[in-house]
Amino acid sequence: MAEQPTRRRAWDLPRDLTPEQRRSRRTWIEHYLVELDRRYRSLDEGAPADYIPALALADPSLFGVAVLGQQGQHLRCGDADVEFTIQSISKVVLYGLALETWGRDVVHERAGVEPSGDRFNAITFDDDDNRAFNPMVNAGALAITDLLEGDTVDERLQAMLDAFERYLGHPVEVDQTVYRSELETAHRNRAITHLLVSRGIVSDRVEEIVELYTMQCSIVVTATDLATIAATLANAGVNPVTGEQALAAWAVRDVLSVMLTCGMYDYSGEWVYRVGLPAKSGVGGGVLAVLPGIGGLGVYSPPLDKFGTSVRGVKVCEDLAEELGMHLFEPSPPWTREP
Ligand code: GLU
Repeated sequence: MAEQPTRRRAWDLPRDLTPEQRRSRRTWIEHYLVELDRRYRSLDEGAPADYIPALALADPSLFGVAVLGQQGQHLRCGDADVEFTIQSISKVVLYGLALETWGRDVVHERAGVEPSGDRFNAITFDDDDNRAFNPMVNAGALAITDLLEGDTVDERLQAMLDAFERYLGHPVEVDQTVYRSELETAHRNRAITHLLVSRGIVSDRVEEIVELYTMQCSIVVTATDLATIAATLANAGVNPVTGEQALAAWAVRDVLSVMLTCGMYDYSGEWVYRVGLPAKSGVGGGVLAVLPGIGGLGVYSPPLDKFGTSVRGVKVCEDLAEELGMHLFEPSPPWTREP
């Protein structure tokens, strides 16, 4: 029989902690965030996205990590309060909103729940069911954005902003520089939307869909905000700080399932294997991961890997899953073991 793989253990808690502190999850995570900062701040891999010109200007040295626990306690490290644009992570919020507003059947007619195995902006569709593969790739997200309710662009934008505010507990805004930069170069998303129209999946308001989608991607957040969205999802849709129900619990289950299987694009299988947490990345450099029963994690660091995901963001999640035992199928997290 093959031997059990030995656990990587590149760090430990300080020796002078009491047994009680050593058993506290908060102590572990607090010390761990500092350790991650030490480990990855100087990492020099990847590059900020440049297909959206305004994103190429991001400072590659920025690195922030935030955790929000289910009791509403924040832990932060580094550049956790630096602002950036949410990009694809917005798909999580819009998918939940569409489910809650229209129900599963209407939403799933537009976007299924199968990983596409393709890049986030691939021009591919689920031909058998005439829909996008899932709501986390651009084709699916554009189809979901078209479900925003309202008679005018302003009303539909407001419905979107209100949904974000319910998760975050504060108003949000669209970064106009990133929005304009992305809209001017959004030829591929426009092409995908035209194909969605030709297939009868979305309404024929092509420019409006692309505008609203680009606005949702240009919403300004911080790593702390991402941790708040993730913690809200970990808490059955209730923001742990404000107590507001941002999303109905049944829809949370759907959103988390799709995040787990499709949230990291064509790295999703590897992600479930290595990290085992529902997560979503964005080309602005943000990553959020839901820590069921614990809270939410948000990471910001602009340099991206070939999948369009933050390099430091992936490292943080991989280490956290491995060393703190956060993987969904982890049999024994460290704080449950005897010190
Ligand atoms: N706004 C980006 C796009 O549509 C989002 C992609 C991403 O963050 O993965 O290309």
